[in-house]
Amino acid sequence: MDRENQEIISDLKTYLEYLKGMGIVSLPASEMKADEPSQSTMITLEDVRKELGDCKRCKLHRGRKTIVFGEGNEKATLMLIGEGPGYDEDVQGRPFVGKAGQLLTKIIQSINLSREEVYIANIIKCRPPQNRNPQPDEIQNCHPFLMKQISVIQPKIICALGTFSAQTLLKTGAKITALRGKLYDLEGIKVIPTYHPAFLLRNPEKKREVWEDMKKIAEWINNNDKTKEME
Ligand code: SF4
Repeated sequence: MDRENQEIISDLKTYLEYLKGMGIVSLPASEMKADEPSQSTMITLEDVRKELGDCKRCKLHRGRKTIVFGEGNEKATLMLIGEGPGYDEDVQGRPFVGKAGQLLTKIIQSINLSREEVYIANIIKCRPPQNRNPQPDEIQNCHPFLMKQISVIQPKIICALGTFSAQTLLKTGAKITALRGKLYDLEGIKVIPTYHPAFLLRNPEKKREVWEDMKKIAEWINNNDKTKEME
């Protein structure tokens, strides 16, 4: 075995140990495919939606009305990723359309962008019963499809909304209070976590911190990507 292959196997072992520590003991084949560059250049969001189909890969399918796939600009510079659908989203099949969604729209507009210019998705695509937190097996089953959406859209920067989004994307157990407002890297894409709009509705005094985080996103886009929203 040559040195390069040995390094790949060593990296893979480290990653699998990390997943084991998170309580994840198996990976669906589709997750392994999500990171393959050859696929990312070939597939479209429509392909990803078709592959998802009438998904029953986790128990959340039992209580949902609609799969909330995500919506927005397929070439977005900025992608915003929340936790999961609530009541309104489940009924309408669209992400962030309830009260928290109206607040998210204002947050997006605060940096002179519109919902149509960005792409909005969630960590899980089906509403958990009574809006409970998503569970590890549900995140594990849904995550490959979010990764494929990211791989197709190729945003320059992702705003992770809330604890579950930030922890899942950044593969960490750290709290959102510690993560928010800082710039991280996800396979070459910048990630800035901030508070979830639903949390802001309950804690309006935190709006200032979200405003600061959004200003950082706007500054990063201004400094690094002046053209993509115009395409
Ligand atoms: S949450 Fe994701 S994995 Fe689970 S049933 Fe819905 S689409 Fe499938």
